[in-house]
Amino acid sequence: MKNYLIELIEKLFKYHSLELNEYEFLIENRNHEATKLLKKYANDLKREFYGNKIFIRGLIEFSNFCKNDCLYCGLRKSNLNCERYRLNKNEILKCADEGYKLGFRTFVLQSGEDNYFTDEILCEIVSALKLNYSDCAVTLSIGERSFKSYKILREAGADRYLLRHETADKNHYEKLHPVEMSFNNRLECLRNLRKLNYQVGCGFMVGSPFQSNKNLAQDLKFIEEFKPEMCGIGPFIPHKDTPFKNFMAGTVELTCYLLSIIRIIHPKILLPATTALGTVDPVGREKGILSGANVVMPNLSPVNVRKKYELYDNKICTGDESAQCIKCLSGRMQNIGHEIITDRGDFKN
Ligand code: SAH
Repeated sequence: MKNYLIELIEKLFKYHSLELNEYEFLIENRNHEATKLLKKYANDLKREFYGNKIFIRGLIEFSNFCKNDCLYCGLRKSNLNCERYRLNKNEILKCADEGYKLGFRTFVLQSGEDNYFTDEILCEIVSALKLNYSDCAVTLSIGERSFKSYKILREAGADRYLLRHETADKNHYEKLHPVEMSFNNRLECLRNLRKLNYQVGCGFMVGSPFQSNKNLAQDLKFIEEFKPEMCGIGPFIPHKDTPFKNFMAGTVELTCYLLSIIRIIHPKILLPATTALGTVDPVGREKGILSGANVVMPNLSPVNVRKKYELYDNKICTGDESAQCIKCLSGRMQNIGHEIITDRGDFKN
């Protein structure tokens, strides 16, 4: 059985693909040796395409209003303890301005699903960003919208879109979301984004409630087949004001194991070491990078709102200025032999 595990890893490295039950086996039976080998292959591939370079994305959390009620998320509409805020266009541009000076060439606009931000308002913001910073990429992470809306935003200049699929299993999806939300619509949104020629990011939480190893295998198969340009994975972390408050957080160990596998499935994928990973372990992001990740997404949001964008408990970096954040991260990356660079960091085929 031990040899079979290693055989599977060799097969994955050779074909960048496994059967669903093989992915499941790889997760179920993981051990020290398998982890080490996956990590080695992941790092070899990362080095081949990206060297020791790490891309940075400036995250601007511009609204925490949300019409959805995802059971895991601190921004869910039923959370009355969440103090809501919105940034206006000028405030967003100010974040970007600061970010640009610090070397950011990608801005990620993230929010809850906030109806206040109509296509018109969002287009104005996206166009202004693209006009002021023509050498920068704009990424949106604002949830499920219509094809028409995605199209208008794309035409306004948005380059990329992050929409985690959250889980590739319909049954599991329905345990994480209220009945009003639909697994099929989430996937339809991802397909629409793809049609519109966005660079697309999907992703999921590791260790979310009710998640089985089979579900994780389904996530890997989905990623293999959908071929996203980016993939955000991080541990689930309970939030005290959600129905999932008493569930355990996901582990760094499993998250890193999966990061290595995803790097091997799609050697050129843009793979962030997420803030959630840094939250469950003080050196979680470093561990993520050393497992195959090549992107970090420091916060550019104004310090006075950072604590309010609370997806989960104890989120890190909520008290730092943007300049401190990037300094800290640069040092951390250097300590592990990596280097943050000033670059749009597009997916290259
Ligand atoms: N509203 C946008 C952005 C969501 S926040 C959207 O729907 O895409 C970005 C991601 O944070 C989510 O996709 C989810 O995977 C993650 N997240 C939310 N709550 C979390 C929690 N409790 N622990 C870890 N990650 C969480």
